[in-house]
Amino acid sequence: MNINILTIFPEIFDALNSGVISKSLKNKIICLKTFDIRKNAVNKHNQVDSKPYGGGEGMVLMAEPIVKTLKQINKKKRGKVVYLSPQGIKLDQKKVVSLSNLKNITIICGRYEGIDQRVIDKYVDEEISLGDFVLSGGEYAALCLIDAISRHVPGTLGNIDSYMKDTFSNGLLKGDVYTKPEKFESMKVPEILLSGNHQKIQLWKNENSLIKTFLKRPDLLKGIKLTKKQKKLLEEWSSKAIL
Ligand code: SAM
Repeated sequence: MNINILTIFPEIFDALNSGVISKSLKNKIICLKTFDIRKNAVNKHNQVDSKPYGGGEGMVLMAEPIVKTLKQINKKKRGKVVYLSPQGIKLDQKKVVSLSNLKNITIICGRYEGIDQRVIDKYVDEEISLGDFVLSGGEYAALCLIDAISRHVPGTLGNIDSYMKDTFSNGLLKGDVYTKPEKFESMKVPEILLSGNHQKIQLWKNENSLIKTFLKRPDLLKGIKLTKKQKKLLEEWSSKAIL
């Protein structure tokens, strides 16, 4: 997968040189290229931003340096052009999985008050938001997006179960996880997990995941077709919650 990033702060992407993603970058499973928008500044003062027409606060990233930078990447390698913006569609796991199937993607990182609308109108295929909050730059959103996408690119994670069984993969939250020691500050690991009975452990994990979703994110259950057994379990928990 080729990921191109347009930014005025390429150094922020050094953060990807740690953890599992760094391995897939080293092994060229993912090829990440940053393009410094400032190299296409409109004058010798390195200007890439200007005041908004019609007045208003802050500065706006100018169209020319962004488009010149974009055109340095040939159209095939550019692939889907994404602008990260709080005004885009909200990112979720389904979107992450679909983006991870792309061969080429180009991400534009905004700054200040954003980028000139004409870039969005003519060159952007999709605006994606990380959530209903405002960051100071698209770079932080890009880091999250790249990390999430990379988990789904074959070869990044050693064990594909890691993402196949992640929270959201089957529509539910993943269940509680524990590790050594068996007892910590008088809190014990649930007995069943130490039993060695894999069938019962799996049953516990499934129920724990369902109940956890019901308690923490009941909205997720609306999008899931529950089995009779699951419905019964939730009914029991609903009556407990009312009590
Ligand atoms: N003034 C803009 C507005 O009100 O919509 C916000 C600009 S923000 C300070 C600067 C840049 O950060 C944006 O151009 C965008 O690239 C990025 N950004 C901010 N919030 C984001 C979010 N929730 N998701 C993705 N990118 C975001």
